[in-house]
Parts: sequence; structure tokens; C-alpha cells
Amino acid sequence: MANATPLVDARRLTKIYRTPAGDFTALKGIDLRVNRGEFVAVIGKSGSGKSTFINMLTGIDRPTSGEIFIGGEPLHTFDEEQMARWRGRNLGIVFQFFQLLPTLTLVENIMLPMDINKLYPAAERRERAMHLLGLVEMTEQADKLPAAVSGGQQQRVAIARALANDPGLIIADEPTGNLDSRTAAGIFTLFTRLVEEGKTIIMVTHDETQAARTHRAVMIADGEVVNEHVTRALMGLNYDQLAEVQRRVTPVTFASGAVIVRQGEPGDLFYILTDGQAEVTVTHPDGHEIVVDRLRAGQYFGEMALISGGARRATVRVTDDAPVTAVAIDPATFDRLVAESPALRDDLQRIISLRQLQSQVVALSGIDRAELQRLTSGAPTHTYAPGDTIIRRGELGETAGFILEGEVEVFADRPGERQERIDRLGPGRYFGEMALLGDGRRTATVRAAGTGPVKLLELDAPAFRKLMEMSGSFAADVWQMAAERQTRV
Ligand code: ADP
Ligand code: MG
Repeated sequence: MANATPLVDARRLTKIYRTPAGDFTALKGIDLRVNRGEFVAVIGKSGSGKSTFINMLTGIDRPTSGEIFIGGEPLHTFDEEQMARWRGRNLGIVFQFFQLLPTLTLVENIMLPMDINKLYPAAERRERAMHLLGLVEMTEQADKLPAAVSGGQQQRVAIARALANDPGLIIADEPTGNLDSRTAAGIFTLFTRLVEEGKTIIMVTHDETQAARTHRAVMIADGEVVNEHVTRALMGLNYDQLAEVQRRVTPVTFASGAVIVRQGEPGDLFYILTDGQAEVTVTHPDGHEIVVDRLRAGQYFGEMALISGGARRATVRVTDDAPVTAVAIDPATFDRLVAESPALRDDLQRIISLRQLQSQVVALSGIDRAELQRLTSGAPTHTYAPGDTIIRRGELGETAGFILEGEVEVFADRPGERQERIDRLGPGRYFGEMALLGDGRRTATVRAAGTGPVKLLELDAPAFRKLMEMSGSFAADVWQMAAERQTRV
């Protein structure tokens, strides 16, 4: 629920370290809201300010300015005593280095926070500590000293200790940073289980696969939070590149109903939507307009005109119910990011093919975008030079091709080894379906025509059949087309 009162609400947090060498601004106005039950990863380069930020939330250190509310309590106004008391009852903290007391046994380490806060009667504390050791599968080691068990085991005990007073919120700073990957995976699983049981967790991690498995990842760069929708939209970029994007983007707002980009106009900016919704429409040469997509926060648009140069291929309009906020990226920055990041290039290529497919193959426009994306995600696009033979009559065929760019010519064999051109197809048309519907043999020869390259999205037979199942209008189109083609070949 977007409107629920957040459990954690940090506002405009700044932190200036005063050092002999001068002041150093480690946090430059950080905002973060975390709802109950969320599992949030905090990511970013070393030195970006993650620990500084986390230490503000735990009250281990104080912000220079800004406010922190946790569970409605104004932590920024607490004195040391109030803070210690609040923390002991409401917060579990896990560090990178386990920080168990070396002279106490494992079970005594867990009892210590209970002894200090006295939320549980003295007679119940050992039993509760043993129960928590059971949760982290350390019961048998209960009476050992920390030094007698492994690092991963110490960290499990540290997590059990963080749970001693049953806090709703757990804050962990690189809890797996000092563990081998197998042990780290075990600790991470333990965190996911705690979230399933209702805990809220904020965890700094440098492990991207862990971050991807939380509810959301908040990236800090140079003491600032990088917009979450930007990091989601540009997942292929590394931390340095995202930090650069953060420095270069311009926030923009559009009123409900406003046109952000218009088909046919020249385009220079690349946009990432950060709030609200927009509708993408394409007007076909015959004048009819179709809605090809709806965009939400975390999706981008405007890439087509930038990549292939020239005019906008579609119109993007804010929906009527609410305004849109977005960030705009200038073409030079966009080009540099694309040049530097193969992952972003791949992602753009996939999105562009999908958008071309849906805006050009009218019979597919009714299909849900997410479904279409799933279906086509493994499908390759191929580019052919003019004159190339794409399929040959008589050969076995297992794919159908959707034309994204360029034109092809279709030939039938006539008596006397003569080939006759029977059709010419452009963007939005498809071919190769006859073999899929019939005996598997190509019924005609198809060659790339025209003067430019021909770009195809190639779907295999199961995906093609699934498309026909998903869209009645597409299926009808296919059968009608096949009947017509049958008479010509
Ligand atoms: P991270 O956890 O992301 O690696 P930190 O929050 O530890 O980053 O540090 C952020 C920046 O603040 C770093 O440049 C670090 O050198 C500086 N810094 C951290 N603690 C102090 C301190 N006590 N005094 C001065 N500078 C500090
Ligand atoms: Mg740190």
C-alpha cells in the first residue's frame, strides 16, 4: 500500500564529518521510506555513504540535519538514554564483523540484550535464547565460546542475538561481507525467512544477486540516493554509470493528458518514468491510431529515435488521471552509456524489437505487453542484406518471421524452373507460418528486397501457436492469410 504510514521515514538526512583536513559531506539529503514487511537492500560503491546512512537509522551516529521517524518515533530528537532504550526494544542490528562478546558463551551472548532490556522475565530468558539458537540451527553449540565456532556460525548467532527482544525491524550492514559465498547464501536465506514471518529488514549488501532478490534495492552514490526507478530501468549499468546518470538527469513533470513525445517529430531526449502512467500510441499510414503500450514508473521511452536517429516512432501521452514525473537524459550522455554498457545495449535491443513488433503487427496490438514480452524474450532477431535468401521453398522450416524493418519478396516456383514473384511484404507483416501450420516444408522462397537491411523477429512453432491462442484476432489473421497464400503458391 503506497499510502500506508511507513515504518521508517528518513527525511533530508545530511551528515557532515568534521575532520582536521576540513569538512566532508558524507550524506547530501537522503530520503527513504520503508513500509512494514519490506525487505530493502542498500547498495552502492565502497565509500558512497551506506554505513553512514545506516548508522543514522540505528542511532549509532547522529545526522547533521534532517529527521528520522521509526514507528512514528522522532529518533532525531532522542538523547542517548532514550535512544539506547528505544533501540534495545525495537531494533535488531547485525554487523559485518559479528561482534559477539568473546568471554560469553553463545547462549549468554543472546541472553545479554534480554538481561539489559528486561522485556522477558529472567526465568524465561535462557529458554528463549535456546529457541532463537534453534532458529539459526546452532542449538548444539550453545555453550561454546564464539572463538570455537566458524565465522558463518558466529554470524548466525549474531542474528539470533538481534532477534532477542523480538524487534520488528532488523538493520544489517554487510552481514555477509565477511563470509564465503555458500555461508553468505545461508545467511541470506535466513533473512528472507524472517521477512516472510513479518519482519522488516534493511540490509546493506555488495552482492548484486542478493540485492535482486529483495523487494527493492536503494542505491547510494556520493551521499545521495539514486532514484529507484532509474536504477530499475537501467539495471544493466554498473554503480559508476548509475552515479553518472544521477548527476546528469533533469527531473521533468508533465500534466495529466499532456503529450511528452509526438510521433513524427524529431527526438533528442531519453526519458525514464518515475511516477504516474503514460500511454503509447502509434498512428498507421491509413490514419488509424492504436494504443501499443502503457508505461509505469521504472520504464523508459524515447530510445528509438535516439538509436536509429530521426523522428519519434510513437506518441507518448500522460494518462488522464494523474501527472507524470520523469527524468530526462541528454543524447550525449545516452550515447556514452549505450557505448559503454553491453548489458544496456542488449536490453535496449530487446525492448526495441518488442516495441516494433507490437506497434507494427496490428493483429498483436491487443495482446498484453507483459505476456508478449515473456513469449518473445528468447526469440532472436536477425538482419539480412538485400538479396539474401531467408527461406527456401521445399526446405524444412521451424520458425515464422515478423518483419520489423525493411521489405521482403516472396517467390513461387513455376514450371520450367522459373520463379515468379507473388508478394512483397513490409514492416508489420509476417511469413513462414505455412510450414508451421502444414507439413513443415516451406511453400515459397523469401528474399530480402529493397535497398536497406531487413530485420526480423523469429518465433519458433510453439511460441507462434501460443500467440494464436492468446489473440483471436491474430489467429483469424493467420488463417485468412494462409488461405490466401495457399491459392498463390
Ligand atoms: P560505505 O559504507 O558506503 O563504504 P561510509 O558511510 O563508511 O561508506 O563512508 C562514506 C564516506 O564518509 C567515506 O568517504 C568515508 O571516508 C567518510 N567517513 C566515514 N566515516 C567518517 C568519519 N568518522 N570521519 C570522517 N569521514 C568519514
Ligand atoms: Mg560500509
